[in-house]
Amino acid sequence: MTERSPQFSFEFFPPKSAEGMEKLKTTRDELMRLNPKYVSVTFGAGGSTQQGTIETIQEMLNAGLDAAPHLSCIGSTEENIRELLNQYIGMGVKRIVALRGDMPSGMGDTGELHYANELVEFIRRETGEHFHIEVAAYPEFHPQAPSATADLDNFARKVKAGANAAITQYFYNIDAYLRFIEECNKRNIEIPVFPGIMPITNLKNLARFSDMCGAEIPRWLRLRLEAYGDDMESLKAFGLEVTTELSQRLLDAGAPGIHFYTMNQVGPTQTVMNNLR
Ligand code: FAD
Repeated sequence: MTERSPQFSFEFFPPKSAEGMEKLKTTRDELMRLNPKYVSVTFGAGGSTQQGTIETIQEMLNAGLDAAPHLSCIGSTEENIRELLNQYIGMGVKRIVALRGDMPSGMGDTGELHYANELVEFIRRETGEHFHIEVAAYPEFHPQAPSATADLDNFARKVKAGANAAITQYFYNIDAYLRFIEECNKRNIEIPVFPGIMPITNLKNLARFSDMCGAEIPRWLRLRLEAYGDDMESLKAFGLEVTTELSQRLLDAGAPGIHFYTMNQVGPTQTVMNNLR
């Protein structure tokens, strides 16, 4: 049996300024040396960063990287999404991360496509097999899901609609991922599910994100991180050790690779990648 080597991918967000873009280019150049399969660029809620996403994708393509824009459908029209898809095809984009997204506060109209499975169907209807489509998966379940089973049913709908692969929300509980994969196997869902890994470097930011997206920081981990207080260097060293161990255990357990939430930083992702066997 030939062993397939794990696939690594890196996620960035569009910088808000020209200076930020210059910084991101340096980050991109450093992280490119780690040979990612592709990089992805997020899309602000309700399309708020649309232009920034396009520009950042162009910068990634300019460097010869396979670049996947995230595309969310909530609050958007089919016409707007069609135009964006055509623009991406014109730019040479071959991958897309298809999401529902979240409604920005104050924005009333949810648009024409309400869930990610409808977006995947729309992309397939409009562009056939042009794009390799990634969708989101939630080993600890999406905060708005009525139940774990309903969320798994939703994941199955996205796969049936034509998704090629999935990236998970970040998590620090490996059992949640392994159980999720077990459930996928029971449902004959065969697409690869890449764990999304958020390197731990700062407790305050991590706790804020985690509350928003429903990712759990286990009690033991939160307490260990809190114990470092203002000693950010030691917290970061410990956090990256925990992140490395989680990543290594996932790969050892058969995860097909890892998608890093880089937060546009070189150091954390580079450290974890270098620490992996
Ligand atoms: P969906 O798969 O549509 O699910 C959303 C919720 O609706 C779930 O609770 C699901 O169970 C439920 N549901 C689905 N179908 C139905 C139905 N028919 N009836 C009732 N309930 C249903 N956000 C951004 O704004 N920009 C980004 O770039 C971005 N990138 C992301 C990348 C990854 C890898 C991940 C994991 C998340 C990302 N997000 C991003 C966050 C994401 O947009 C939010 O988590 C959002 O709330 C859900 O998007 P989704 O595509 O998972 O939605």
